[in-house]
Amino acid sequence: MVIGVLALQGAFARHVEMLQGCGVDTVEIRQPDHLVGIDGLVVPGGESTTMVKLLETFELAKPIQELLDEGLPLFGTCAGMILAAEGIADGYPGQLSFGAIDLDVRRNGYGRQVDSFEADLAIDALDGPPIRAVFIRAPVVERAGAEVEVLASVEGDPVLCRQGSVLVTSFHPELTDDDRLHRLFLTSVGT
Ligand code: GLN
Repeated sequence: MVIGVLALQGAFARHVEMLQGCGVDTVEIRQPDHLVGIDGLVVPGGESTTMVKLLETFELAKPIQELLDEGLPLFGTCAGMILAAEGIADGYPGQLSFGAIDLDVRRNGYGRQVDSFEADLAIDALDGPPIRAVFIRAPVVERAGAEVEVLASVEGDPVLCRQGSVLVTSFHPELTDDDRLHRLFLTSVGT
């Protein structure tokens, strides 16, 4: 199994380490031919506006969209959730997103006072203790479509969502040593 990790910008290195710790091969995606043969894709946190510009510059937006339309499993974290979503508020006008999961999100939606925070999430889909979730200028989910499973929320706002083989978090699961969400993603890959 080979998992591609979009490596244009942002927090991709820790995802690579964590996936390798889960026993899978990884490839850092920087140009279209790196996409050949991947079984799943991770889009990390970072700055979604910059990432979108780089996706276009390196001609990755279209081939990734095509793979996602064909059902490539996707794990999007923070900025990666924004890129995976259907609708984006407070992006730049017309900011690209892949529409891989039926969510509308607001960039930086938690506001300045709570720019960054941590929370313990009880997640029924996982065994073991709550997940420690690190939020950094995180998006808020403003709408989740009927097909979306909300696996965890913070004060009523969904923060971990799944639709088929697309899993997204508004937090950074790669920043702790807990790899259970990466393993959850891998259960939807290559089966
Ligand atoms: N605020 C960033 C954005 O809009 C996301 C922050 C993050 O990925 N930690 O893209």
